[in-house]
Amino acid sequence: MPRQAAASSNAKAAASAAKPDAPNLSAPQKAMHRLGLVRDIDLALHLPLRYEDETVITPLRQARDGQTVQVEGVVRDNRVEVRGRRQLVVKLDDGTGEVLLRFLNFYGSQQKSWGPGVRLRVRGELRVGFFGREMVHPNVRIVSDATPLSTALTPVYPAGAGLPQAYLRKAVEGALKRAPLDEVLPAGVVPPQWPSLRQALHSLHHPSPSASVDALTDHSDPAWQRLKFEELLAQQLSRLQAKAERAHLKAPVLPLRPQGLHERLLGVLPFELTAAQRRVCEEIALDLQRPQPMHRLLQGDVGSGKTVVAALSAAIAMEAGWQCALMAPTEILAEQHFRKLVGWLEPLGVKVAWLTGSLKAKAKREQLAAVASGEAQLVVGTHAVIQDQVEFSRLGLALIDEQHRFGVAQRLQLRRKLDEGDLEPHLLMMSATPIPRTLAMTYLADLEVSTIDELPPGRTPIVTKVFADTRREEVIERIRHEVGKGSQVYWVCPLIDETEETDQTADAMAGRDSAKRPPLDLSNVTHTHIELSEALPEVGVGLLHGRLPAAEKAEVMDRFARGELHVLVATTVIEVGVDVPNASLMVIEHAERFGLSQLHQLRGRVGRGAVASVCVLLYASPLSDSGKQRLRAMAETTDGFEISRRDLDIRGPGEFMGARQSGAALLRFADLAEDQALLAQVQQAAQLLLKQHPEAAQRHIHRWLGQKAEYLKA
Ligand code: ADP
Ligand code: MG
Repeated sequence: MPRQAAASSNAKAAASAAKPDAPNLSAPQKAMHRLGLVRDIDLALHLPLRYEDETVITPLRQARDGQTVQVEGVVRDNRVEVRGRRQLVVKLDDGTGEVLLRFLNFYGSQQKSWGPGVRLRVRGELRVGFFGREMVHPNVRIVSDATPLSTALTPVYPAGAGLPQAYLRKAVEGALKRAPLDEVLPAGVVPPQWPSLRQALHSLHHPSPSASVDALTDHSDPAWQRLKFEELLAQQLSRLQAKAERAHLKAPVLPLRPQGLHERLLGVLPFELTAAQRRVCEEIALDLQRPQPMHRLLQGDVGSGKTVVAALSAAIAMEAGWQCALMAPTEILAEQHFRKLVGWLEPLGVKVAWLTGSLKAKAKREQLAAVASGEAQLVVGTHAVIQDQVEFSRLGLALIDEQHRFGVAQRLQLRRKLDEGDLEPHLLMMSATPIPRTLAMTYLADLEVSTIDELPPGRTPIVTKVFADTRREEVIERIRHEVGKGSQVYWVCPLIDETEETDQTADAMAGRDSAKRPPLDLSNVTHTHIELSEALPEVGVGLLHGRLPAAEKAEVMDRFARGELHVLVATTVIEVGVDVPNASLMVIEHAERFGLSQLHQLRGRVGRGAVASVCVLLYASPLSDSGKQRLRAMAETTDGFEISRRDLDIRGPGEFMGARQSGAALLRFADLAEDQALLAQVQQAAQLLLKQHPEAAQRHIHRWLGQKAEYLKA
């Protein structure tokens, strides 16, 4: 299909669109490329995050405190003060009142040019400060009596570092003129009361002064409805298309043989499967017998027993003479799987290979050779399993644990790996973060879902307590007590997960500032380790974080699993997979800094044995509103599905899915929680288009997603 950008825009833009990484781009152009703003149509569809009303000037006397307003007046006074920090304070008088403008970062030149008598037009939030009304860091423009006011609301675009609003506004302006905005969707698909795409885009980029800022801001304006519909439709179409494409792929047929490895494995397991585990095993077994590749998500709460389901699925494939790969997002988790699977399967004659980035060259060569020859029927590891040097002899089934923790790049790499043979392997993904139905309907329209909805018997529920950090000593006493009874304890400290790249694109799209993310800081976890070691001299206290060498990590984990260490101070490296049933107390420090699903995953490390377990969430005051909601949710329920629903409520779907879940193509305009009614219309339209207007469906996907369509399939 020809690129629309190349066909329609000027030569220069087309040339740069063809080479997104071209070295001759300016800094703002590069920043635009990072946001996926390559083609004219991408820019035309890059809609404002919000609008600023610079069409009116509000007299100070009428302005309310807390309101964001534009004010114009004359500088009366201007001085640098030191109140804790050096700051520039400008006193502005508009004839109806006075306001202090306060700048913590300023240039000397600003102090000079904003001198007494100068007329300023400023825009900012009005607050009551210690010395009267003030604005902190307002936008400032020097004006004359005759400077005209804006006639339209001023759009503010999602930008991000290195991309000034003024530059982006100009780029959007130009692109809007060039971009092909003809109607792609046939009549009857779009509800007739909405504007055309062209009208909708024009009115959102340049709303008339009479437009309601509220309707624009809350996205209820018909123009927004049209855009949201288009966006959801593109997602839905690309998902359905991926599903249709998959139906043409061929995969090995893996029948369930009586008395095969599958049955023998069931025979040696130290427990009976739960009814839910049996049900999902059957669903998977049915998929494996089909000549099309399985594309299934296995979801089940933390501790619901997904690993054994993976092992049983692998047994079916291996019995049929095919290899399996099991990939986990962290080395610690991969190692736990490796041990468990070796324990179950080696006595049954299965050879299991082990692949991670930290293997020594010689060991790695041996493992790679065993994989390539087919001698190893099962390969367990981190994403090293899908690296280019890994050659499978006959890969039949790929198992991805905690799939949502893998980055987009890794998913694309997995895709490529799976594409290698003549037959495509089956794919089973596992996740403990249940996906709400609305999300499953859109993002995951091309995925089958199996759910384990019960926990194995004999688990005692976890009691969760929320304490202010001031009660730390009491908590340490509690640890002494628990360890005295023979139990073990986790103490978790916050730290950005080292395996996670921060995604600037997602940040910018969501209007967050990447630079504001806390830096990688190990001081918290090391201090707490020292503190606990000193407070509990009679107790073995271990330290675990991602920056330790792999061998040391493994040793610490080992000693904790064997019970030589009683307390493990750790970062979120223990978030997934760690399974020590004797641990019955978990303390999470600065719990307010963790996301809800992360807290739930962490808490799932306890409550794995028969003794009653406790999770203590320590927080530092003051708590934000969403922090309060998260901690309350944790105290009120241990049900992962309920947690997931609340998480969706608190964060909204865009953030809930995150960039890792959905690629660069996360929804920018539609809100799945709010726009459920639209979703039904979109699903209908998608079916109709694919059946009756496949050409239009293609053009629509291309217009909205361009190259991003690839990410969506990952
Ligand atoms: P998750 O779903 O979080 O990955 P795991 O697979 O790690 O859970 O299982 C958690 C624990 O429960 C493991 O120790 C596992 O051996 C055990 N387990 C799994 N299924 C059952 C069962 N049916 N009965 C008893 N224990 C089970
Ligand atoms: Mg697991």
